[in-house]
Amino acid sequence: MITINTNYTKLKASYLFSDIARRVADFTKAHPHKSIIRLGIGDVTRALPDACIQAFHGAVDEMARDATFRGYGPEQGYDFLREKIAAGDFQSRGVDIAADEIFVSDGSKCDTGNIQELFALDAAIAVPDPVYPVYVDTNVMAGRTGVNENDRYSGLCYLESTEQNGFVPDLPCEPVDLVYLCFPNNPTGATATREQLAAWVAWAHEHRALLLFDAAYERFIRDPAIPHSIYEIEGAREVAVEFRSFSKTAGFTGARCAFTVVPRNCRAFTPGGAAQMLHPLWLRRQSTKFNGVSYPVQRAAAAVYSPQGQAQVDGLVDGYLENARIIREKMCNLGFACTGGDNSPYIWINTRQDSWAFFDMLLDKAGVVCTPGAGFGRCGQGYIRISAFNSRDNVEQAMERISDALA
Ligand code: PLP
Repeated sequence: MITINTNYTKLKASYLFSDIARRVADFTKAHPHKSIIRLGIGDVTRALPDACIQAFHGAVDEMARDATFRGYGPEQGYDFLREKIAAGDFQSRGVDIAADEIFVSDGSKCDTGNIQELFALDAAIAVPDPVYPVYVDTNVMAGRTGVNENDRYSGLCYLESTEQNGFVPDLPCEPVDLVYLCFPNNPTGATATREQLAAWVAWAHEHRALLLFDAAYERFIRDPAIPHSIYEIEGAREVAVEFRSFSKTAGFTGARCAFTVVPRNCRAFTPGGAAQMLHPLWLRRQSTKFNGVSYPVQRAAAAVYSPQGQAQVDGLVDGYLENARIIREKMCNLGFACTGGDNSPYIWINTRQDSWAFFDMLLDKAGVVCTPGAGFGRCGQGYIRISAFNSRDNVEQAMERISDALA
């Protein structure tokens, strides 16, 4: 008899986006002539930069000729892309990361989910609350948790991100081996200072723990004092893996390209307590289960690092950041406490009422769709997330409608 992995039965159904879709569908049915503006999704809305498109086309043409055709590529990514990433994203900022420490992949979602395969089943895991749900669900699937009660799994340590700590969680006060951190944060938009990250790195050394640092929104950082990479912190190479993505940076949510940084000296431990480097383990995992990102997509991603690509990506991100500024300013003027939106595409808004009640009110009165914070964890109750991923026109119109609705 083939039996299932019963850990899957512990997964709490993710009602968030299906609930949103249902409520929007009900509203549209009741008000077929009212237009709806969606500021709930975390997907980009603008086209790929022209430099990427040119490179994409060129690579597709190469695939059309026997002389330049490419078959299976290196699982960890082509050197032309790894070298550009190491130089452009790290070495140019004085950060010591080499090309062979970059693993190109088809998404940070997959990588943040897959990486936990490298660790013991009894590893103690800490996740932020509110949280990007992939960190939690992949550990549930692996059997590292008990059941879910009141929005929390037993066996997981939840690091509360609240107004009191500026949405940067405090160090855990219980024993933890593996910590997920995400800055700029989804959903709160919060960023961490150099001192805060340094405290996490020191803690990881002291407790022989590992940090999984998700920097998918790094490109949105504009404040020069905020670190872009955990490796800007001394000692981080030994205790941190970093995830980056071209999705939000350059509009690759549909094209799919990301990368994970595993420094050569980044370690976990054997059951006997000896240091075990993670680089060979991740290489083994990826070369066994993954066949690499397609050649044209890697060429398109490499074009991000050309002078034209950099200027075009800056233009895209600047456009979304201006949307974020407009949203934040308007919501602050309406009297709400807001986080994010300055170095992040997300604005996290304290509604001082139930998240879903506020969601319904915005939909009914303004025809604007946001994301209720309660869907990201217990600490998200009372908040909504508004996303800057939309056109300027839609954002301006949505803000006018919200002002009118709340007047
Ligand atoms: N990490 C965070 C925090 C995200 O919000 C997202 C996407 O929304 C991802 C990772 C996934 O990125 P990718 O498109 O590279 O899989």
